[in-house]
Amino acid sequence: MLQVVSTGSFPIDRYIPVVGEDVVRRLRELAEPLRGRRVAHVNATSYGGGVAEILRATVPLLQDLGVDASWQVIHGSGPFFEVTKGFHNALQGASYDLTQEARETYLDNNRRNASLLEHDYDFIFVHDPQPAAMANFTDNGRATWIWRCHIDTSHRNSEVWSFLEPYLHDYREWIFTLPDFVPPELPGNDGVSIIHPAIDPLSPKNMDLPPDLQRRILQWVGVDVDRPLVVQVSRFDPWKDPLGTLEVYRRVRSSVPGLQLAMLGHLAGDDPEGGRIFAQVQKEVGDDPDIHLFTNYTAASSVEVNAFQRSADVVIQKSIREGFGLVVAEALWKGAPVVGGRVGGIPLQMPEGVGGVLVDNLDDAAHWTHRLLTNRDERDTLGRAGQEHILEHFLITRYLEDELRLLNDLLDGASPG
Ligand code: UDP
Repeated sequence: MLQVVSTGSFPIDRYIPVVGEDVVRRLRELAEPLRGRRVAHVNATSYGGGVAEILRATVPLLQDLGVDASWQVIHGSGPFFEVTKGFHNALQGASYDLTQEARETYLDNNRRNASLLEHDYDFIFVHDPQPAAMANFTDNGRATWIWRCHIDTSHRNSEVWSFLEPYLHDYREWIFTLPDFVPPELPGNDGVSIIHPAIDPLSPKNMDLPPDLQRRILQWVGVDVDRPLVVQVSRFDPWKDPLGTLEVYRRVRSSVPGLQLAMLGHLAGDDPEGGRIFAQVQKEVGDDPDIHLFTNYTAASSVEVNAFQRSADVVIQKSIREGFGLVVAEALWKGAPVVGGRVGGIPLQMPEGVGGVLVDNLDDAAHWTHRLLTNRDERDTLGRAGQEHILEHFLITRYLEDELRLLNDLLDGASPG
């Protein structure tokens, strides 16, 4: 068996005060034809990163809606996750030496995981490239296979893509985060859907947290709550540009007395690069007492992330490449202004004048970080607009609705397009 992540079920009615009765009624209607259907979500890690976040939120709600949903995580050797992180980077545009050994490691691990997947599912969602070849190695009866890609594949490395693409043709449906990410090799309108990710407003990461509790959490991990604070929450990953964030902090600190920077980064189970980037950041930080670095080994749990995002004067997410950037939605939901890179799903979350400012380079990032740190009214105005935008477009109930609609279409044999 694959590793099953135990999530239990969570009552959909709890969302009524946030999104209203109509939304929840619609979800119930959409779930009705799917009652009792077996749906498996398969991905590479149970923590760290946006995919785990979304599955943790949706699987319990699907269960409450009567769908027999489960979340399963593949097993993988160290070399396998080195290869798949290389693929991940290559699909986002990095170069990669695709050796015969890498191909074999990838396929062997996929073959083994496919043999561990139980049978008799109606729908199997496979998330991202790590387990993407599993569909090829299993004869899973009546199951409809769906590949859900969360990363930016618009600058994909052609060698890695050519290797993976044949395995993707084993799927009935492909879901991407943005239309720009859809590779033209996949068959256009027939079988490709776009679903924007979303956050769970009731999770420990996003639930209301009284100001006093926020302060106590930050104080406990050594942050001075009476001084200005810039925050980045991201896996330690080159695409998230942690060194760029450090540089922004360094450029603005002389004109913002007492400024502190906190960087929280999970070291995810499927991301062996995380430890190396973290070490690099640590070295760069040196002994600056105003920079606070946290990993999941120290203080990057959901509630802590919540407290940091709520307490931040400015959140920085100046990614170089981004799938969606759930952390931006999380920050905006809490009214924190974001200085964000104009990449992936970030512009979708921050239209002009909403939530923060989009930047294209370090100079702009430093300029806007300074300006927002020194202008409370502007921060508040942006923050309020950001919160409303997330409420309208990027909460998990909307995500669930998109997913249920897709499953209904597939059940009817229609092409969701
Ligand atoms: N995250 C976290 N702790 C960390 C770093 C990240 O809980 O130290 C979470 C973060 O809050 C968000 C997700 O991981 O929910 C990251 O999703 P995003 O889409 O921003 O980036 P990804 O890691 O999927 O590329």
